[in-house]
Amino acid sequence: MSHKYKCSIFQVFVELEYVYIGAVALAAEPYFEKQPDQNGLSREVCVFPLKLKNGELSPIDKNHLNRVFETKTKKAKRLNDEEIKRRAKNARKNVGSRKAIIQQHERNPWVAEHAKRLAKGYCMLCDQPAPFKNKAGEPYLETHHIIWLAKGGEDTIANTVALCPNCHRKMHIQNDKKDIQRLQMKCKAS
Ligand SMILES: [Zn+2]
Ligand SMILES: [Zn+2]
Repeated sequence: MSHKYKCSIFQVFVELEYVYIGAVALAAEPYFEKQPDQNGLSREVCVFPLKLKNGELSPIDKNHLNRVFETKTKKAKRLNDEEIKRRAKNARKNVGSRKAIIQQHERNPWVAEHAKRLAKGYCMLCDQPAPFKNKAGEPYLETHHIIWLAKGGEDTIANTVALCPNCHRKMHIQNDKKDIQRLQMKCKAS
């Protein structure tokens, strides 16, 4: 049995698109492992455990990862049930993980607390009571920035609202103009 080795320090993010993540060195003895190929068929591959020479991963553009997932999701939608089931069954049991440097915004806890108090246990978008309580018995709401911090929004009272988890997700999926206006009105009125 012959195996073709492919040792690469590039990571495939999108088909035919490669991102250089740094110089690598062998971290342990290479070994063989069963992994699904592009079509979900199990095949044996030689794994070269690699570590980055400088120890840290260079920052990875999160958009790359999102694009990969979106591309795969689109591809998945075109396959029939049987094919999806076969691929899902063949999937790697251990999900891949990576160390990533993610830009995180520091948030003012007083602003968040203020928004929650203002909401009085009711979602500021759908006006429904929080769907459940946290372990401390307080109504569970999440704080959200009407104009996202990532888009230059401010961590201020005027830009922060408390939402039920459903509406919070909705704002991040749809970010509907009418919803934005409604939340901004409510902030101004308070
Ligand atoms: Zn809601
Ligand atoms: Zn949010």
